[in-house]
Amino acid sequence: MANYEKDEAICLRAIDFSETSQVVTLLTRQNGIVALLAKGSRKMAKAGTFSFGAPIDQLARGEVVFILPRGTAELGTLTAWNLLDHLAAVRKSLPAFLAGQILCEVIIALLSPHEPHPELYDELIAGFSALAEAQSKRMFLSMAKSVLAATGYQPHLENCLICKTPVRPGVRAQFCPGSGGACCIGCPAQSKTLQVDGGVLLALARLPAPSVLLSSAASKPADAAALRAAAAVLMAAIEAATDRPLRTRWALDALFGKRRTV
Ligand SMILES: [Zn+2]
Repeated sequence: MANYEKDEAICLRAIDFSETSQVVTLLTRQNGIVALLAKGSRKMAKAGTFSFGAPIDQLARGEVVFILPRGTAELGTLTAWNLLDHLAAVRKSLPAFLAGQILCEVIIALLSPHEPHPELYDELIAGFSALAEAQSKRMFLSMAKSVLAATGYQPHLENCLICKTPVRPGVRAQFCPGSGGACCIGCPAQSKTLQVDGGVLLALARLPAPSVLLSSAASKPADAAALRAAAAVLMAAIEAATDRPLRTRWALDALFGKRRTV
């Protein structure tokens, strides 16, 4: 008999499949990333309703029931989807929408399928719900950093990886994506590096998790160039971890401006 899993989930990707169905990639709270066939999700039933209420949208949150894939099958089957909300904050402004697009790709790229991360799930829901707020760029960075940390790729930013000298604000440093950490300008970095001010690396190291960021008011408005540099560091860490370029890098440029050395 099939095992039905009941869970809560956020839809990270929805692809139309055949005339009537979708393939959805969900981040579930208890089962991690799952790819499911939502059979009939695009089909209007005779009563004028869809099988799941409506086709499933990216960045919608719902209660789900599904059957995990069996054997070598890649797709499980979605049997119920009860929409909880559409994470309205992500749809309120273009920056929030762009941030949501990048985060969906980052989460799918970094998390292994079926590996549960309930605490990360809660942090991401808190973050997605606040992406339209004043601190949206900081929140985006906090969410991306949380995904890196949960998957074991938390960058080491407070000391040089080679000589252990503390990183200092106002002193130029390098970030080495290949080794996942900071490095002084004078130390022999092994791979392609990003040059940034030490203050950016320290601010990123101290950036709290989304739920903490939500409850703390920013001490001062974030500097646009510093935010852009911090985003470049995190995205380089993500691309090094997944060993491929992000498809949504265009959105990063639109969100933070073109990458420059600062
Ligand atoms: Zn050093």
